Amino acid sequence: MTRNLITPAQNTWCPGCGNFSIQHTLKDILAVREKEGSSLDNVVLVSGIGCHAKIADYLNINTVYTLHGRTIPVATGLKLANPDLTVICCAGDGDAYAEGLDHLIFAAKRNIDITMIVHNNRVYGLTTGQYTPTSPLGFKGKSTPAGTAEYPFNPLELMLASGATYIARGYTKKIPQLAQLIRQGIAHHGFAFIDILQICASFFNMTEYYQSRVYDLSGHDTGDFGMACAKAREWDYNRDAPIALGVFYEKSFPTFDERLFVQNLTPDERAHRIRDLFEAAK
Ligand code: SF4
Repeated sequence: MTRNLITPAQNTWCPGCGNFSIQHTLKDILAVREKEGSSLDNVVLVSGIGCHAKIADYLNINTVYTLHGRTIPVATGLKLANPDLTVICCAGDGDAYAEGLDHLIFAAKRNIDITMIVHNNRVYGLTTGQYTPTSPLGFKGKSTPAGTAEYPFNPLELMLASGATYIARGYTKKIPQLAQLIRQGIAHHGFAFIDILQICASFFNMTEYYQSRVYDLSGHDTGDFGMACAKAREWDYNRDAPIALGVFYEKSFPTFDERLFVQNLTPDERAHRIRDLFEAAK
C-alpha cells in the first residue's frame, strides 16, 4: 500500500506561497519512485530554518529539521554514514547563501552525492521581510527601509566556480520543468544544485517580473562550461534581462563519498584507486 506523502500537520505557509509548488513537486516525484518499487525508506530530506524548512513537517518521509545554514553538514554526515541513502537538502536563500555559504561551496568542491534544492525567494520571509544575499540592489524591507546598498550575488556562477557537477535553475510557476530538474538532480551522481526562483506571496512577490522574463534553456549544451558561465551571467539577480530556466551545466566526476570509501586499502592502493576514479571520469 502506498502511503499518504502529505502529513496531517497544519500547513502555515501563506496562500500563494511558492513553497507549495516545491512540496507537491517533490511529493509527486517520490510517489512515482515508490510506485516503481524503490522504497522511500532510503530517502532522507534535510531542511534548515525558514519558511521552506517546514517542508520537513509536511512531507511524510524521513526528514531532519536542522539548524540555520546547516543542511549540508548534516546531509554529508548522513551520506557518509550510509552511502545507500538518497539525501535531499531543502534550504532557503538565507540558509544556503548566507549562514550556510561555506558549506555550500565545500559540498560543490567535494562533489558529495547529495541534492541541494534552494527555495530562493530572495527575502527572509519567516522573519517578515529582511533582505538576503539574492535580494536586488535597493530592496526595501524591514531591515533596509531606505533600500539595501548591497548588490546581490549570483549563486549559479558561484556553483560553477566551486565545482558543482549538476547546476540548474527552476521556477515555482513552471511546475513540469521544475519536476524534471529535481528528478534529474536526484538521479545525478554527485553534487546536484537546483536554485529555484520561489514566489514569496507576502514579502517579495516577483510573479509579474519573472513571468515576463523567464525562458527555457532547452537545446543548450550542458557540457560546455564556458557557455554555462555565459548563460549564468545573462541575468545577475538584479538587471532587467532574460532569465534562463533549465540545466546550465552537468558533468560526470568522482564523488566525495566514493573517494573516501577506500580506507581499507594500503596508501598505494588508495592513491591508485582515487587516480582511477578521476581517469574514468575524463
Ligand atoms: Fe511563503 Fe513568504 Fe509566506 Fe514565507 S512569508 S510562507 S515564503 S509567502
